[in-house]
Amino acid sequence: MSAVVSLTNVHKSFGAIEVLKGVSFEVMPGEVTAVIGASGSGKSTALRCINALEKINSGEIIVCGHKIHDEKLERRMLRQDVGIVFQSYNLFPHLTVAQNIMLAPTCVKGLRKAQARTLAEMVLAQVGLAEKADDYPEQLSGGQQQRVAIARSLAMQPKLMLFDEVTSALDPHLTGEVLRVMEDLARGGMSMILVTHEMAFARKVANKVVFMHHGKVWEVGPGAMLDDPQTPELKAFLSNGL
Ligand code: ADP
Ligand code: MG
Repeated sequence: MSAVVSLTNVHKSFGAIEVLKGVSFEVMPGEVTAVIGASGSGKSTALRCINALEKINSGEIIVCGHKIHDEKLERRMLRQDVGIVFQSYNLFPHLTVAQNIMLAPTCVKGLRKAQARTLAEMVLAQVGLAEKADDYPEQLSGGQQQRVAIARSLAMQPKLMLFDEVTSALDPHLTGEVLRVMEDLARGGMSMILVTHEMAFARKVANKVVFMHHGKVWEVGPGAMLDDPQTPELKAFLSNGL
């Protein structure tokens, strides 16, 4: 079985500052990988490189068979295989929930409206918001809007989902509903990489935890590694939080 994602010795600099200093890790099909680490350790940059939103300086990234570092990368094909959800949900306020979700399937995949509507209803049911299809984003809570953003990605039927601190902007009482949706996805066999500060969630749901420190993968292991940190850096991170 080949990896859905593999990073090999990835280096990425912004100007003179090297942000990723030889990052390597793999995600196997159906695997949930949690990336943790202090603010500024390079987690978001790593995710953005995986989705070809940033150009790497050296090394190799292969995602769902696409060679990200290759000049001939077909971005359009990559975008169909990989969904990404950020902290900010960026829904269009003038479109209903269903219309937000239908946008990419109709524009990018050329689905007919009726097909896209059926798809929207399906992914909304998946995130527990079937009854909100015709509401506008402002009528929803932050947690519900984030679930719509996840549904919007799922509507493209990706092979891999990337989540970058998707609960960080939410009030604590709203994070649970978003985490539950992600847990359901994981149970359903979706390959996922999530950058998160939710250590309890990482421990429970992740097959693999990648601890990044100063642009390097410092420790990798199963969720249980959080109970038994091997390096002083991970120990400090776990006890100090950010
Ligand atoms: P994390 O997600 O772990 O908080 P980031 O990947 O966002 O870390 O950032 C890692 C480092 O790279 C930080 O020092 C940040 O300031 C820097 N950085 C990120 N994006 C850019 C950019 N577009 N231009 C310059 N520096 C950047
Ligand atoms: Mg970040």
